[in-house]
Amino acid sequence: MDKKDIRSLSLLELESDFEALGEKKFRAKQVYKWLRGSAESFEEMSDISKALREKLSEIYFIPTVKIIKRLESRLDETVKYLYELHDGERIESVLMKYNHGYTVCISTQVGCRMGCSFCASGLEGLFRNLYPSEMLAQVEMAAKDNVIRVSNIVLMGMGEPLDNFDNVKKFLEMVSDPIGLGIGYRHISLSTSGVVTGIYELAKLNLPITLSISLHAPFDELRSEMMKVNRRWNIEELIKACRDYQKITGRRISFEYAMIKGKNDTEACAVRLAQILKGVMCHINLIPVNPVKENDYEKSDRNALMKFAKRLNELGLNTTVRRTLGGDIDASCGQLRRKFESEGGDKNEGLQ
Ligand code: SAH
Ligand code: SF4
Repeated sequence: MDKKDIRSLSLLELESDFEALGEKKFRAKQVYKWLRGSAESFEEMSDISKALREKLSEIYFIPTVKIIKRLESRLDETVKYLYELHDGERIESVLMKYNHGYTVCISTQVGCRMGCSFCASGLEGLFRNLYPSEMLAQVEMAAKDNVIRVSNIVLMGMGEPLDNFDNVKKFLEMVSDPIGLGIGYRHISLSTSGVVTGIYELAKLNLPITLSISLHAPFDELRSEMMKVNRRWNIEELIKACRDYQKITGRRISFEYAMIKGKNDTEACAVRLAQILKGVMCHINLIPVNPVKENDYEKSDRNALMKFAKRLNELGLNTTVRRTLGGDIDASCGQLRRKFESEGGDKNEGLQ
């Protein structure tokens, strides 16, 4: 039997597990306190009997998340973290400072199986899904390490959130719980490459989070070349899912669009975007693509970016150019992890 992640359980769930194990309910509360603190093992739980600790360690495990690298941008206050998990896997998250407060961008998987051609996270495929507690830890640790209150969360780090649906759903419940961090759904954005079945599942939950769609191209041929997911669900199916999502939730949708020189920054792309998004209540975020060494994409230059944004606005699409943060610290998904792995980084090396 696989051991269960005890840190992803709510107090109620833990209490009901304890009852089923024939243990007293108040013991669950004691253990829960340790888990919400910094306990890394059952042995540390000094007010719990040895027999119970042993019993627990046969059924559960405590996923640990340790900072192994911390990079702070000199250009802005962006901080990038590389974490090591209990099984030696590594993930990254980024803390960003905006006028309205602090936002943490978290990973939802180790690696990613979607394999988008422009992205460093998917180059080696999926290693494993993250547990809800491992997502929560990324938020908690960024807050603790900087002695700040995190006000917003974006699920835009490594991984495809809708490919780890149940754990992401649990994480959303945990992080918004007023007894915990209490970060309301309205302050959370979830980004997907276009997993249509997941969009419908999410719509059923009807949460007031912001759904972000990584669109990046308005033509199937181009999008399928850049994003394998488009070969499974094409643009028509994706936009239909967005319209249906909007009907159910009434929420505006964000579309992400990474601008690649000469590929998706043309007049024809702008016109087509306006056609396919007609009637969708949305916002478009343009961002210059972050070149990774495994492909030859170049970012569109500033002029092309501004021209494209202006054109989209003229065509009736509410468009902004996203500010890039942490340009000096590879603050783009998957980059730090890959760099660290390929340098054969020792976990004690480069600690800041
Ligand atoms: N898997 C989800 C969320 C994580 S990726 C998704 O794809 O939406 C977060 C965002 O970063 C996505 O919009 C993704 O398209 C974008 N992205 C990935 N690599 C990039 C790169 N090299 N340059 C610019 N944006 C990139
Ligand atoms: Fe995965 Fe998103 Fe990267 Fe695509 S862009 S490989 S879906 S993390």
